[in-house]
Amino acid sequence: MRLALAGHGASRGLALGRARLRDPHAMDSREQTIEPDEVEAEVARLHTAIAAARAELLALRERLHGALAHELGEFIDIHALILDDPELLHGLDALVRTGRYRAEYALKLQRDKLVLVFEGMDDPYFRSRREDIEHVVRRVRTALHRGSDTPRPGIAGDILVTDSVGPADLVQLQAQGVVAIVTSSGSTLSHAAILARSVHMPLLIGVHDVLERIDDGDTLMVDGSAGEVIRDPDADDLRRYRQREQGLQREQRTLQKLRQADTRTRDGIDIRLYANAESREDVAEAHALGATGIGLYRTEFLFLQRPQLPDENEQFRAYRDLVLGMSGRPVTIRTLDLGADKADRSGVVLSNEPNPALGLRGVRLSLARRDLFDTQLRAILRASGYGAVRILVPMVSRREELVAVRALVHEHARDLRTEGHEIADHIDLGAMIEVPAAALALRDVVDLVDFLSIGTNDLMQYLLAADRDNEAIADVYSPLHPAFIHLLREVIVAGQRSGLPVAVCGEMAGDVRYTRLLLALGLTDFSLHPSSLLEVRQIVRETDLGKLHARSRSLLRARDREQLEAWLTDRPPPRHAARTRKRGGDTSSHA
Ligand code: PEP
Ligand code: MG
Repeated sequence: MRLALAGHGASRGLALGRARLRDPHAMDSREQTIEPDEVEAEVARLHTAIAAARAELLALRERLHGALAHELGEFIDIHALILDDPELLHGLDALVRTGRYRAEYALKLQRDKLVLVFEGMDDPYFRSRREDIEHVVRRVRTALHRGSDTPRPGIAGDILVTDSVGPADLVQLQAQGVVAIVTSSGSTLSHAAILARSVHMPLLIGVHDVLERIDDGDTLMVDGSAGEVIRDPDADDLRRYRQREQGLQREQRTLQKLRQADTRTRDGIDIRLYANAESREDVAEAHALGATGIGLYRTEFLFLQRPQLPDENEQFRAYRDLVLGMSGRPVTIRTLDLGADKADRSGVVLSNEPNPALGLRGVRLSLARRDLFDTQLRAILRASGYGAVRILVPMVSRREELVAVRALVHEHARDLRTEGHEIADHIDLGAMIEVPAAALALRDVVDLVDFLSIGTNDLMQYLLAADRDNEAIADVYSPLHPAFIHLLREVIVAGQRSGLPVAVCGEMAGDVRYTRLLLALGLTDFSLHPSSLLEVRQIVRETDLGKLHARSRSLLRARDREQLEAWLTDRPPPRHAARTRKRGGDTSSHA
């Protein structure tokens, strides 16, 4: 029977397919035992499955290139390490040999034990590694199933329904032909979500009880834009699906014509579209789509997954390749933003911080670890000999930080020139505005930099006191809050008045729902993932900026999310009572 379930669209797009359930809780919870004469064969079956899982991880690692390899390599390496863990292997063998359990049940018992250990850890980083155990166990279980007499059907054209999905899974699932993913938990800012957007895989997250309400083999229709999955769609749904699909194909054809078009509004204002690029593929796409340059290159991805840090030469080569890839268009290299959710394995990030998002991250960490920072600055400066490079500093909260960074840039440029390196005469230095203190005290920042880039992902988190990765408060973590809109406007206007280019480089810049809103606030520079560049360009070209600015007053007057949403859709705003009763019983005007 038809059933529509709502979730959060983490990656847009439509898909129609069969449900393929991957339910960790339904995992062979029945106790299954074997006869004594089956033990050796069962141990061998288990070992074959573990070897197959290991081989899959190796093959996956080899298929990845560039920064994607760095980023996903971390997960793959951790998963391979877990698979090699003697405790896990001996424990499994013992359960089969001594307990005479079937391999699947032994796997479940061992998983439960390890999960308990990880959940009991104080360190949030290690606690979060519980998910890795789940992913590894799942991989072995799938290999066990594949080796059994009743193999699961092929999954091309399937829609995976599961509790959560990891970034490494996502790449593999796409290669296997999975067309969309629906999960019961997750965050729109997780690495898996960012990756799903960049590979155009529809992903719907946070669909409550989805594993209980959908059965294996059900027909599903996923709409990543509307944030909806429909079980057993009826004739109307299917008609709608076909129409939407045809519409999307037409849109794609129109969009492709904009590949080298200018990004000019109807009334002749040029808007700059920079790309956020992490992999070689992103850089090639940015170049092919006529991006103004790279507006954000997150260097921490070079550091995340390895026990040893990249040295100056390795970093230099990565930055130089990036610069060469953009053939002279400016490339904005952000200095290390390690810390918080971006924890490394080399011990740079403190693992015992009670509140890592409020701790030693970004420029704070760079200034505390001068050895790391000096190496990185030297590598970036050396790359400036090959094309236009800009340096962007993350997590700035105080003037002193920029004073220190500027002094270091000058010092290293002087040293490198003395050593005979070719360095650009001038390198633009920019500050990320992503901590409310920097936004509010912008006048103390502007004289020290050449450009500003607003990190809306973090600015929203810190302004609204809403963790960007916490699904429970996903509705609070939204740009549609008047305080956030006003702060954005102030930074854009104040930055521009000081003569500085101001960009937005958070996810919001590539979210087409907000393109007009950002234009109305006066934004002229966007930095966004190449996958949404053409759509944003199209909206810009359809916009009359003069008319839009005339509507910006009503945008700034909006007092809640409902009114902001009405502005976005150009509906008359819902009316609110002009006089509001205060808690003490008196009234006051909020006109
Ligand atoms: C941001 O905070 O908006 C941003 C672009 O940086 P990151 O997502 O890497 O923290
Ligand atoms: Mg940030």
